This record gives sequence, structure tokens and C-alpha cells, in this order.
Amino acid sequence: MSTLIQQQNQETQFAKCYVDDVYNLVKKRNPNESEFHQAVKEVFDSLVPVLASNPKYIEHGILERMVEPERVISFQVPWVDDQGMVQVNRGFRVQFNSAIGPYKGGLRFHPSVNASIIKFLGFEQIFKNSLTGQPIGGGKGGSDFDPKGKSDKEIMRFTQSFMSELSKYIGPDVDVPAGDIGVGAREIGYMFGQYKKMRGGFQAGVLTGKGLAYGGSLGRKEATGYGTVYFVEEMLKDKGFSLKGSTVVVSGSGNVSIYAIEKAQQLGGNVVACSDSSGYIFDPQGINVDTVKQLKEVEGKRISEYVQEHPHAQFTPGCSGIWSIPCDIALPCATQNEIDEIAANLLVSNGVIAIGEGANMPSTLEAIEIFHANKVLFGPAKAVNAGGVAVSALEMAQNSMRLSWTLEEVDEKLQDIMKNIYRNSIEASHEYNAPGNLVVGANIAGFKKVADAMISQGII
Ligand code: NAP
Repeated sequence: MSTLIQQQNQETQFAKCYVDDVYNLVKKRNPNESEFHQAVKEVFDSLVPVLASNPKYIEHGILERMVEPERVISFQVPWVDDQGMVQVNRGFRVQFNSAIGPYKGGLRFHPSVNASIIKFLGFEQIFKNSLTGQPIGGGKGGSDFDPKGKSDKEIMRFTQSFMSELSKYIGPDVDVPAGDIGVGAREIGYMFGQYKKMRGGFQAGVLTGKGLAYGGSLGRKEATGYGTVYFVEEMLKDKGFSLKGSTVVVSGSGNVSIYAIEKAQQLGGNVVACSDSSGYIFDPQGINVDTVKQLKEVEGKRISEYVQEHPHAQFTPGCSGIWSIPCDIALPCATQNEIDEIAANLLVSNGVIAIGEGANMPSTLEAIEIFHANKVLFGPAKAVNAGGVAVSALEMAQNSMRLSWTLEEVDEKLQDIMKNIYRNSIEASHEYNAPGNLVVGANIAGFKKVADAMISQGII
């Protein structure tokens, strides 16, 4: 073995030991936070080659610093329900990393929310935001409040109480939250109103995902779903495939799913299934997206009601069965860990060509291994669903300049951003000896910019 190869092997071994040490520290310091551990592991496993060839990242303790949020805020959210009873929820904001810009990331309202979920989402957001090429740091927040079945007045009282505390920690140049699961235009509107009342002055840039009448951006609602499909189309094109004529399955029927379905159909895909947390619809004639919009965006109903309008379609209770439907392209757009080993094997045995993660961390680590082992094109969440935060950053830019771009202008910028994310990720995968592995490519491309900025700014 040549001296050079021996030296490279030693550097790789050293980087592996460093990664293992920091990962063990994360587990020790954050016990019982399995989602956070999973997100860290996925990133760390990819970084070994970049750490081996750039010892400066180890010398500056970059991983130890990146896994420790700059600030974690946990607070009480008391509110009064329609029966006059006092309710108390828990609120969170994790301000993870501000090396390249103000903290930026959504707020999730869902009963499953806890410190582990918010930390996994905030950690992922660091790399995703870096990949967009825009000056935004990583953060995330939310509450274990369950919006399902709540009246409009209850939602308003809860969000006002939530913002009364959160308003102390955010601002247009400090931390700019947006929506996520359970937080759409209505919730953002109530929170914006409360922030304005508490802090005084009209600071449009404090939240994104706002209504168009008070500083929102055209195209923000569609951005994550459209961006997901733009990325997948780019990934397919590279291998001589296309969405045109393909069969597509999309999980969920919320914000990301609806606009992923719409764009996939516009590009010629036949989307045959979608779901919510109660079950899934199979419509071989193609999901009617207008019906899904009416049920979910307007009426707040269950997806099972789709069959009333389209009796030829079938509703099946339970979520995981959606992955047994044969398809060329699967777009998990609902929630974390919805594709496990069993679902991944089913998709592979039914001949899936490509996976595009519209949701955050929808595939388990075992599922990702199965896709890679079977040469399925795999687009990881932090690259694929970055279109939402990218257009949020465009909303911030428009707010600062006090102007509004047209839908076409925003969409054109979104398409460019998604193409660049794909290019940068695929190039990094080649540069670091994992050609075509977009998990490795996206993690490395997102990491380097943040790590270099941290080194430039010193130990702070
Ligand atoms: P949303 O509008 O609240 O929709 C979530 C959808 O997923 C709902 O249809 C929900 O059904 C469904 N769902 C939840 N758990 C499910 C399960 N176990 N199986 C099947 N369906 C399930 O949220 P969203 O904004 O679309 O977010 C979806 C995912 O995308 C999340 O992982 C989020 O972090 C990620 N994401 C969102 C954005 C964004 O801009 N919104 C950006 C980047 C990433 P129910 O109605 O029954 O609850």
C-alpha cells in the first residue's frame, strides 16, 4: 500500500472516531430523544470524507458546536377553551445555528411535538437553509397543541398566548418563524397580529407565510410542494427519466402534498393516491386535486370523504398501506418515519424508480439503506423540500425592499433554486467519492458553508 493511501486511511479512521465520539456525546446529553439522534446520525455518517480531508473542522470543534443549539426556549402556553376551562400547552423554539443568517424555520402544532422532534427539525433546518444559497440560519419551534376539532376562537386564543411569549425572542433580523404541520395562513395571521400589538410597529419580516394582503409572497403556499416536484424532475432527468407518463403516490393531503400533487400532474404524472392520518385514497383515474383542496383547505374534513365525490375511488383505513400501491415515483409528504423497512421493501418490489422526500425525515435510516442498495433514486428531505424555506427567504427579501414580485417571478426563482440544490448536491457526491448519493451530497454541500462561516466568526 502506498504511503499516500495509508495516510488517507488513517485520516478516514480518525474522522470516523471523531464522528462516533460526538454522536455518543449527543446521545448522552440528550437522552430519550430518538428523532434528534436519528437526524444527527444521518448527517454525521455523510460527513466522514469531508472531515478526513479538512482537519480544520475537527480542530475547531465544529460538530460539537453544531449539535448544541445556540438557545432552547421552552415555555408555558395557557389559554381558555370555549367551555371556559383553562388549558395549558407547552411551547418551544430552538434557535439552532445563526452562522449564516437569522434563525429561520417553521412552527409545528401537533400533539406529538416534544423537545426531540423540534430539535431534529431544527438541526435539519441548518443544512437545508444553507443549501438554498440564501442567508438564513436554522431554527424550529412549535407546541403540543392539537388544532384538530378546535374552534376558530380557540385557535386564536391559543396562538395569541403562544406569541405573547415567543415575541420576546424573535424579530426580522433575529429569528423568523413560519408554518409547518398544523400552522397555516390563519395561524400565522393571528400570530402576526399579536406580535404587532405586543411589540408595536409593523414589522412585516418577523414571520413568513403571511397573507398576501399584509406582506405575504405569491407562491409561498405552493412552494414546498412545487419545489419537491421540481427537484424530483431534475433528479429523473439526469438519468433519462421524466415525470411524464409516470405513476405517482403522494402521502398526506396537507400543504406540501396538495401542491406536490398539483405540480406532478401539471408535469404529466398520474397521481393515484394520497392520504391523511386516518387512511388513504386510491384513485386509478388520478386524484382530483380540486376535491382534495376543497376537503382539506376549505372544509377541514377527512380524506375519506373524497369517495363521496368520486365513487370509483377506494378509501382504506390506516396510513402505511399507501406504500403497497405500485408506483414509479413515491413522494412521502406527511410526517417523519412514515416509510420504514417494510414500506421500503414493498416499494422496491413493486418497481419504484425514485423517492422524493417532501416531508421532513419521512424515511427511516433502514429504509434509506434499502433504497440505496436497490439503486432507487433517492432525494433527501433537506434538499427536496427546501423550496418552502427558500420562498420564505424571498418573502423576507420582498418585505425588506417593500415590493412584491409576481407569481411568475417567484416561481422562476424557485425553479432556479431547486436546480442549484440538485446540482450542488450531486457535485458534492462526486467530489467526496459517493457518486449519485444525494444524502451524502446534500449533507456535505449544506455543511461546508455553515462550518466555514463558524470558523470565520471565531469561538463565540
Ligand atoms: P399539514 O398541512 O399540516 O399536512 C400534514 C398532512 O399529513 C395532513 O394531511 C395530515 O393528516 C397528514 N398526516 C399526518 N400524519 C400522518 C400519517 N402518519 N400518515 C399519513 N398522513 C399523515 O403539514 P405540511 O405543512 O404539509 O407538512 C408536511 C410535512 O412537510 C412535515 O414533515 C413538514 O415538516 C414538512 N415540511 C413542510 C413545509 C411547509 O412549507 N409547509 C416545508 C418543509 C417541510 P391529518 O389531516 O389527518 O392530520
